[in-house]
Amino acid sequence: MPRMILPRESRPGKPDQDAGDRSDESPVVPWRKLLAWYRANRREMPWRGSRDPYAVWVSETMLQQTRIETVRGYFERFLAHFPDLRALAAADTADVLKLWEGLGYYSRARNLHAAARRVAESGRFPETAAEWAALPGVGPYTAAALASICADQPEPVVDGNVTRVAMRLRATPGDGRSPQERAAIAAWLRPAITASGAPGDFNQAVMELGETLCSPKAPKCLLCPLRAACRASAKGIPERFPARRPPKALPVRRFFAFIVPDATGRILLAQRPETGLLGGLWELPMAPIVATPGKRNGAAAARRALDALGLQARTLRSLGEIVHVFSHFRQELHVWEAVGAEERRRRKNRSFVHPADVAVATASTRALALCSESRD
Ligand code: SF4
Repeated sequence: MPRMILPRESRPGKPDQDAGDRSDESPVVPWRKLLAWYRANRREMPWRGSRDPYAVWVSETMLQQTRIETVRGYFERFLAHFPDLRALAAADTADVLKLWEGLGYYSRARNLHAAARRVAESGRFPETAAEWAALPGVGPYTAAALASICADQPEPVVDGNVTRVAMRLRATPGDGRSPQERAAIAAWLRPAITASGAPGDFNQAVMELGETLCSPKAPKCLLCPLRAACRASAKGIPERFPARRPPKALPVRRFFAFIVPDATGRILLAQRPETGLLGGLWELPMAPIVATPGKRNGAAAARRALDALGLQARTLRSLGEIVHVFSHFRQELHVWEAVGAEERRRRKNRSFVHPADVAVATASTRALALCSESRD
């Protein structure tokens, strides 16, 4: 069962931030209004309200480059299998990767696992952003989130959502991607997050506002608690901040990918090296395509590629193409089923397995689904 995370409790000695004299409210970041809006409107998440460093750490790691709705189920399964730091530190890497399967950016899982072992050995969780940032895989954004949520450190989080909100509030020129721009945003937010006395809620409130109201293309300014202080909204052109950069054309890498079943229904999969892209994950045997295969020579080229992989097949059946986008390239898989195939040369990282038993790269999982659909 997923572990229940109790709502954050009021802490004795903390002033009620929504009551009393309001004269200390920052003129540029109306944090009282921001916190009041957040506490009334925040979406329920399995990790929200927790100050447990382990649970918050897992959630923040999963949330990097991944949408909240995607993370929810993964977070609950992960916490059900590894309910605390000790359980994660003692786990096998293969089990950690299996639970991360489909979430992408697998180096996050490897780093989280390695860092959990280090924290378990040290006997205490980090508290400051600098301590968190010393762990593998914990960047400035995650370090600030953890320090503020779990230990009340006034460290502004500056992710894409926060950058957008801050640049709109000030109608700042630029695209907000350079370290200098991000540092300037952090410096600008610091007095307000300190004055708020609730750094964790402050950071989560700005992120939530950016995610729900201050969206990139259609900000809902009429509902926004910060509207009176927002220069971009006053100008009537909030969506022009931050400035957009034209999207970068990603290079394309094309591969033949072969589905090679054995007589018992297992599939031939190759395990990638432990380090690097998709480290330790399993995938279909693949060979690069040197030129785009035309309709006439597609099968002949596929057969040559199969041969280069040390495999031969009675029949080859084309199943279609899969496009999978990584941060720095597009992977195009031309998927073939190799019927009656056998290994002419064995390779040590390759074996027949049940895909459900190992962590399989997403593109290969999609290729296997293509094969199942073709049989329906
Ligand atoms: S008023 Fe509009 S543009 Fe300004 S912060 Fe709110 S939602 Fe964003």
